[in-house]
Amino acid sequence: MQDAHADGTASETETVCPLCAVGCHLARGDGAGRARGVPGPANPNGRLCAKGANAFEAVEDDDRLTQPLVREDGDLVETTWESALDRATDGFEDVLDSHGPEALAFLGAPHCSNEENYLLQKLARTLGTNTVDNRARLCHDNAADALEARFGHPASTLGLPDLEASDLVIVVGANPAVQQPVAFNAFVRGSDGALVHIDPRANETTRAADDHLAPRPGTDALLLQCVAATLVADGDYDADFVAERTTGFEAYRESLAALDVERAAAATDVPVADVRRLAERIADADGVAVIAGTGVEADDGATVEALLDVLCLTGNVDREGAGFALFRGLNNEQGATDVGCRPDRLPGHASLADPDARERVEAVWGVEVPTEPGLNETEALGVFGEEVHGALVVGENPAVAKRDADWTAERLDSLSTLVVVDVYETETTEHADVVLPAAVGLEKSGTVTNLDRRVQALAAVADPPGNARTDFETLCALGQRLVGDGFDYTDPSEARAELRRVSPLHANVEVGEQWDYTGFDTPDGRAAFSPADVDVEVDDGDALALVVGSRAGGFGAADVSADENLHLNPADADARGLSDGDAVRVSTDGASVETTLTVEDGVREGVAYLHADVADPLVRAGAATVDVEAAGE
Ligand code: SF4
Repeated sequence: MQDAHADGTASETETVCPLCAVGCHLARGDGAGRARGVPGPANPNGRLCAKGANAFEAVEDDDRLTQPLVREDGDLVETTWESALDRATDGFEDVLDSHGPEALAFLGAPHCSNEENYLLQKLARTLGTNTVDNRARLCHDNAADALEARFGHPASTLGLPDLEASDLVIVVGANPAVQQPVAFNAFVRGSDGALVHIDPRANETTRAADDHLAPRPGTDALLLQCVAATLVADGDYDADFVAERTTGFEAYRESLAALDVERAAAATDVPVADVRRLAERIADADGVAVIAGTGVEADDGATVEALLDVLCLTGNVDREGAGFALFRGLNNEQGATDVGCRPDRLPGHASLADPDARERVEAVWGVEVPTEPGLNETEALGVFGEEVHGALVVGENPAVAKRDADWTAERLDSLSTLVVVDVYETETTEHADVVLPAAVGLEKSGTVTNLDRRVQALAAVADPPGNARTDFETLCALGQRLVGDGFDYTDPSEARAELRRVSPLHANVEVGEQWDYTGFDTPDGRAAFSPADVDVEVDDGDALALVVGSRAGGFGAADVSADENLHLNPADADARGLSDGDAVRVSTDGASVETTLTVEDGVREGVAYLHADVADPLVRAGAATVDVEAAGE
C-alpha cells in the first residue's frame, strides 16, 4: 500500500475517486468492486464514503460498452474502431461542407478529465464553432456566475481545511452529510465551530446542526437580507474590510435600512428571534464559511448574492476559516468549466473577446477562434435538425431531458450525424449513428479539479473492458481525422502542458495544488455589494416549489445515498389526496417524471423535494415550481 505523495498527487497505484467532486484518494481494494481509501487532501484520514468504497463496480460491470457501434439499416451493429471513426468523420465533414462549422455541437461532461474537456473544446473551436458545453453549467450556473462577478472566479473561494478552521459554518441548500460525506465528516462535523443549516427540508445535515432555519420557498434571500440588516443596524460589520475591499456599500446599506425586518422575517416564516440568533452567531464568529449546493440555484442567484453580501459585510472572505464553498456534485465539474468547455469562454475562464487570451490560443492552435459565443446545450438541442446538424456527445446524455419524449427523439433523429462516446448504452445512444465505447475515470490518466479548486492526478488503476478507449484517445483520433495537426498527443500530460501555455490560471498551478484565489480578480480589485431588492410579498399559491438535492455521481456504482422518491409535507400530500408510497407524477411545463411519494414532516409546506438525478428533466426544462398528482391521472 502506498500513501499519497506529500503534494497530494496520486502514486501509480492510487487515483482520485470519480464519483463526486470531493476528490478522495483511493486504490483497488479487496473484494468485488471494492476500493480502499488512501489519505489525500480531501480525505486526510483515508476514509471513503459507502459509494466510493464500491467505486470499482463500474470497472467490473458486464453491461459496459466494449466495442464501437454504427447504425446499419436502423440497428446499431458492432464494428472496428477504424470503421466507426471513418463513419463519424465522414458525417461531420458532410455537415461542415453543407452547413459550415456552426452546424456542429460538442457536448462534454464533468465525468471527463481536464485534458479530455480541453481537447473537446479545442476541437470545436479549431473547426470554427463555440458551440461546446458541459452539464456543470446546468447544476451551479447562478452560483458560479455570482462568484465570478463578485470575486473574479467562478469557484469556491476557500479550501476544505478552511471549514475546519471556521467558527461558524452555514450550509444553505445542500446536504453534504450525505452528498459529500467524507469532506463533511473530516472538515465540518469534526470541528469545534457551530453549524447552521438553512434548508426547507430537514435532512442528515440538519441532525449535525446547532440550528435549522426552514424559510418559506423562495424567501432564502429575504431571510439573509434580514440577517444583514440586523448586523448593520447593530454595527456588527467589518468597516475596515468594507472600506478597503468592497464597493457599493452605501447603496447596500440604504436598501437594508428600507427593510422592515419584523415583517420580512414573517414573510420568510422564520421567527425573528432565529434571525437575530444567526446574526449574533455571525458577529461573534472568528471565521464564517458558507457551504452552498444546488438549492441556492432556484432564484436566479438572489440567494447567492445575499450570502456573498453577508460574507463581504463581515469581512469573511480571503482569510483563514472564512469564505464560500460551492459544493459541486460531479467529480470534474470545476475542471470542465476551467478548461473552457462552455460556449462563452476560452480556457482559464477568459472572455472570447479578450485580445490577450485570443492571441495566446491562436498562437498555439494555429487557427482563428470564432468571436461569437456558441449555443449552450439547451439552446443547441432546441435547434437540432434546423441550425445544428451534427453533434459529438462525450459522456453526456441530453436525451434524458425528456421535455417531451417524442420531441426529444425527433430532435436527436433530425441530426444527420450523432456520435456518442459513453460507458453504457443510454437514452441518447438509442438515436446515435456512431457509438464509441469509453473508459471510466479509474481507467484514465490525466487530471481532475475538485470542488475546492485542487488539481489532482488520475492514474489508470484498471484497464478499459474489451475495445473501450479513454475519451482522450478518442478525441485525439477524431481531431487527427477532422483537423490534422494539433491532435497528435501521445499522453494527456502533453495536452496539460499545452493548456498551461494558453491559460494563465493553469500555468500557475502545479498538479496537487489548488489554483490561486487570493485577492479579488475584478476590474477594480474589489468586491461589489448587491443592493437588496427582494419582494417581501410572498406568493401563497398552490404551486409547490421544486427543491433539488445534490447530484450523486454515476457510472453504475452503488449509490447508497440516492433517494429517488418525491418528498412532501403531510399537509401538501393531504391537499392532493396522496399518501405515502403512492406513485406520483411531478410535472412542469413540458417535462415530467414519475416516482414514489414519501410523506414526511421534515419537508416544510409548499416544497416538493427531489434528488437531482431524478429531477434532471425538470431542471433542464427550467422548473421553479411543479405540480404533483397521482401517476396515471
Ligand atoms: Fe469521496 Fe465523493 Fe468518492 Fe465518497 S463519492 S469517496 S465523498 S470522492
